[in-house]
Amino acid sequence: MIKRTGEQTYEVESLNPKNAGTWYKVDLEKNECSCPAWQHGGRRPCKHISMVNNALAKEKSEVAKLEAEKFDGTKQEGGSNEVKTS
Ligand SMILES: [Zn+2]
Repeated sequence: MIKRTGEQTYEVESLNPKNAGTWYKVDLEKNECSCPAWQHGGRRPCKHISMVNNALAKEKSEVAKLEAEKFDGTKQEGGSNEVKTS
């Protein structure tokens, strides 16, 4: 689970079932995470930062897809429902 908490800040719930309910703060601007692995100099970027980046990449492609559909749907011709008056 990922929550957006600010312009560049997110919270990611721990993937470890033992830590369920624990949220780590991810700061994309500083490229930091509050998880123990990060604090102890583990893998960088840690999986929480990767998760946020993946989610953002996916979100962007979804948005791009929606935009494409929107533009395709504007090809409607108006004025075909003329009312005949006599
Ligand atoms: Zn982390």
